[in-house]
Amino acid sequence: IQEELIQTEKLRVTSELSASISHEVKNPLTVARGFVQLLMEDKVPVEKQKTYFSMVIQELDRANHILSDYLTFSKPKMEQVEKLNLTTELKKVIELIRPLATMKGIELNVSIEDTGFINGDKVKFHQCMLNVLKNSVEAMEQGGWLEVKTKRHKNKCEITVKDNGIGMTPDEVNRLGTPYYSTKDQGTGLGMMVAFSIIKAMEGTILIHSEYGKGTEMIFTLPLTHKEIQESK
Ligand code: ADP
Ligand code: MG
Repeated sequence: IQEELIQTEKLRVTSELSASISHEVKNPLTVARGFVQLLMEDKVPVEKQKTYFSMVIQELDRANHILSDYLTFSKPKMEQVEKLNLTTELKKVIELIRPLATMKGIELNVSIEDTGFINGDKVKFHQCMLNVLKNSVEAMEQGGWLEVKTKRHKNKCEITVKDNGIGMTPDEVNRLGTPYYSTKDQGTGLGMMVAFSIIKAMEGTILIHSEYGKGTEMIFTLPLTHKEIQESK
């Protein structure tokens, strides 16, 4: 089993990235526009029309995928930091992913205990966990299981996300979070980069265990709010 402690600091995110993402979205939009323009011409054969329309859809899907992995990330600074009930927020994200899991016949095992409060931006925390859970669901063809657990650990809390999907080779684990690194046909390679950056901003860490052909486990450790720590003393 490949074990990798990701020092989230190592993943610096600059404004260059924002620029490169808007560029990444502009490309498919420009291509889609081009095909629509072709479709407006007189007497386009039906067969060609079909090809052009499917190109338009494909390019719009691409733009959509990029934005959904990145959406809440455009401002790298944490702007709306508040006290969050980790359990409550995590449950919301699990309910978002549940229909997707059900559709693929994936067993969802949730074992979440009350871990107390963390500081963070609610929307960004949702985005981070959604990107991670989506990857687990996408790592399975049909069937399989996905486990989400929480645990309190002194002044920290732990979220464990474990799946028995395709898993990763040690090399793939190393490349995880590199902008645009993806092994999927329709992948953006932004989901994990966004997740790493959000966890970094929340002063947390991510521990990854993965084995190719077996599955993946990710352990997120986040500091509890100062008040929580005081009260437990
Ligand atoms: P995308 O999902 O668009 O490919 P991500 O940044 O979310 O981009 O993930 C990058 C890559 O990391 C994926 O293409 C996949 O190869 C790998 N990966 C991430 N999570 C998992 C997982 N739970 N199981 C297997 N592979 C994973
Ligand atoms: Mg993804």
